[in-house]
Amino acid sequence: MSCKHRALIIYTRAVKGTSSNLASSRVELQCASLEGHEGPHHDPSRGEDWEDRGDQLTHILREAEEEPEGG
Ligand SMILES: [Zn+2]
Repeated sequence: MSCKHRALIIYTRAVKGTSSNLASSRVELQCASLEGHEGPHHDPSRGEDWEDRGDQLTHILREAEEEPEGG
């Protein structure tokens, strides 16, 4: 049995001049470790890991990289 934990990384981008963020993209992760494993969950296909927060689906908010300003 493998671990069934999943995570959703939501990349956000700050909107200039406001305090709001726009969700720009999302990436779904699936833990591929054995059930009951120790340490953070890990998705080898994405090379990401995340802490167990007690939910089966963990939301991870992450700021997207700034795009270079043009004009
Ligand atoms: Zn796991």
